[in-house]
Amino acid sequence: MADLNTDVRYIKGIGEKKALALNKLGVFTLYDLLSYFPRKYEDRSRFRPIALAAEGETLCVCGLVADTPRLTRIRRGLDLVKFRAVDETGAMDVTFFNQPYVKDQIQRGESYIFFGKIEIKGTHRSMVNPVVEKEGTVNGVTGRIIPVYRLNAGVNQRSILQAVSQALSLCADQIPDILPEELRLRCALAPAPYAYQNIHFPADFGALEIARRRLIFEELFLLACALGRVRGERVREGGIRFERHDIEEFYSTLPFSPTGAQRRAVNEALNDLCSGGVMNRLVQGDVGSGKTLIAAALIWECWKNGRLSAFMAPTEILTEQHYETLSAFLKPFGIRIGKLTGSMTAKAKRDVKEALQSGELDLVIGTHALFSEGVEYPQLGLVVTDEQHRFGVAQRSALISKGEKPHVLVMSATPIPRTLALIIYGDLDVSILDEMPPGRQKVDTFAVTESYRERLNGFIRKLVGEGRQVFVVCPMVEENDELNMPLKSAQEHAEALAETFPELRVGCVHGKLKPKLKDEIMHSFVAREIDILVSTTVIEVGVDVPNAALMIVENAERFGLSQLHQLRGRVGRGKHKSYCILISDADGEEVKQRLQILCKTNDGFKVSEEDLRLRGPGDFFGSRQHGLPEMHVADLGADAQVLQRAQQEALALLQTDPMLDKPEHRALRERVDRLLTANEDSFN
Ligand code: ADP
Ligand code: MG
Repeated sequence: MADLNTDVRYIKGIGEKKALALNKLGVFTLYDLLSYFPRKYEDRSRFRPIALAAEGETLCVCGLVADTPRLTRIRRGLDLVKFRAVDETGAMDVTFFNQPYVKDQIQRGESYIFFGKIEIKGTHRSMVNPVVEKEGTVNGVTGRIIPVYRLNAGVNQRSILQAVSQALSLCADQIPDILPEELRLRCALAPAPYAYQNIHFPADFGALEIARRRLIFEELFLLACALGRVRGERVREGGIRFERHDIEEFYSTLPFSPTGAQRRAVNEALNDLCSGGVMNRLVQGDVGSGKTLIAAALIWECWKNGRLSAFMAPTEILTEQHYETLSAFLKPFGIRIGKLTGSMTAKAKRDVKEALQSGELDLVIGTHALFSEGVEYPQLGLVVTDEQHRFGVAQRSALISKGEKPHVLVMSATPIPRTLALIIYGDLDVSILDEMPPGRQKVDTFAVTESYRERLNGFIRKLVGEGRQVFVVCPMVEENDELNMPLKSAQEHAEALAETFPELRVGCVHGKLKPKLKDEIMHSFVAREIDILVSTTVIEVGVDVPNAALMIVENAERFGLSQLHQLRGRVGRGKHKSYCILISDADGEEVKQRLQILCKTNDGFKVSEEDLRLRGPGDFFGSRQHGLPEMHVADLGADAQVLQRAQQEALALLQTDPMLDKPEHRALRERVDRLLTANEDSFN
């Protein structure tokens, strides 16, 4: 007898060739086949009597074939089969182009179902190339909602459909319910067999919705259980247990009081540090939300515990800035801080290495030079990386592996809706700074077309006249840009601006410059020796120039919303009223709509939610670059609410049964294990 583990070759009609084609689609067993969900559906459930079918309607007609089908050859390469079908209300002509075999399949005097589009000329009705099958066909392809599957070269719709249909009748009732009964009922979710039956062959659209709801929940619940278990294991793994010191002692030295969100994030991290497990925490906050303070507080705690912290920034200039900020926070306590970057002299580097070795430093801040060969970190307690999307997981681990299971704090300025962050950063716990320090002003944002250029130039003159500085960002121009849109390369645009504003100092940084030169130019901008800085997105990273009050983005349509939001975050960091101008001449409602979102809100989380909604998670994250497992039914953007619920339920379940050892969780555990094995690389 067939069961869920039976090979797909068992199915009638699936021979060696089709089986291999299915294998390529990831389908090996009957269970796989049942889990191969349709991409979409075609509604073939509507019937009409012939005389009542209206022009242009696509529907099913049940008709008796009234004459013998005739095959006519119009010319080479064009055959027609024609016949008449009737019901008690009227008649219609049925025509098939280039399907001569239909002639032998259709018998005069028999009844068939025709699914197709009705055409009416005068009183004359017809259908061309309809889907046709004998009336009363079991598991047929008309008279119901039909699934449409993703295909490859070796299998067609009809074979998959028939295979799934067989698999369902063979073993739909054997599908184990991975959702605990109590939870399933409480969340009002359909039982597994019903869901699998109706996701493939919905009785009606209501049933489809019920099935989808259950399967989306299941998919997200499974993912949440898997990630929760990974996190749980790490906590139990055992790390350096810090002794907790009163963080108020640190706060009391600050020139401001921390926001509620900052306190919460620090507390969450302190709980990790003192738990006996290893901390792996992501702090996510919009630009300007004060992430550096979180790092400072934890470094302070680490120092109190007599251990070394390492802080890694993506660029030299950011290293510089963090060095200054963190020094201001931490030096008053006598915390000893060193710096390590690639551009330092060999001697300076050697000094830092020696100081590290001999325990003369409590904190070292640097670029990836931090994990270069020969740098050692005795007593490493905490690793902080800033702007996480700039580092690969590998780079992070290179630094982490310099210590003995140090705690890790990752700071990211790319706001992602919380639920998603929990999934994308799978193995990380997440703290969110959803509150801005007081007094932060909103950056007025405008989306304009080229026709505003003159006025914009006037505005630049005015602001620079008042002593402000201006950022201009151009999209990266690829060598072989296929789109023939008039794109402004940073360099050309800088030259043009220098001509327009002979009295102003215009600088330019772009990807092709040597890092050292780039840093020098950035430095002169920070030092106010440049009025207008034109760049590609290299300045996207968090360089702080409080005097910059205007951000102009050329060809704004070329950027993602979240990216534009990041760019906007470069201004409004000082006390000056700041502006962001998005220039785009691209046509299309969608572009306008997108840019309008930025004009309407300054909230990075809202922006990213909208971005996600408009682009879908695939584009949002770039294909699989975040190691998200492929979702079969769930849409991480659209199903955020279900995701949240599934997550809560998963965490609650793991609380009672962390390793899913209980017998009633066996089916769930098997699926979780399978998911974890399949995604080994991304979850660790
Ligand atoms: P992020 O790295 O999240 O973009 P920063 O840590 O650079 O933000 O902080 C932005 C600015 O806000 C800094 O000048 C910092 O000193 C200031 N700041 C941080 N927290 C507070 C607070 N609670 N109250 C007032 N200012 C704050
Ligand atoms: Mg920052």
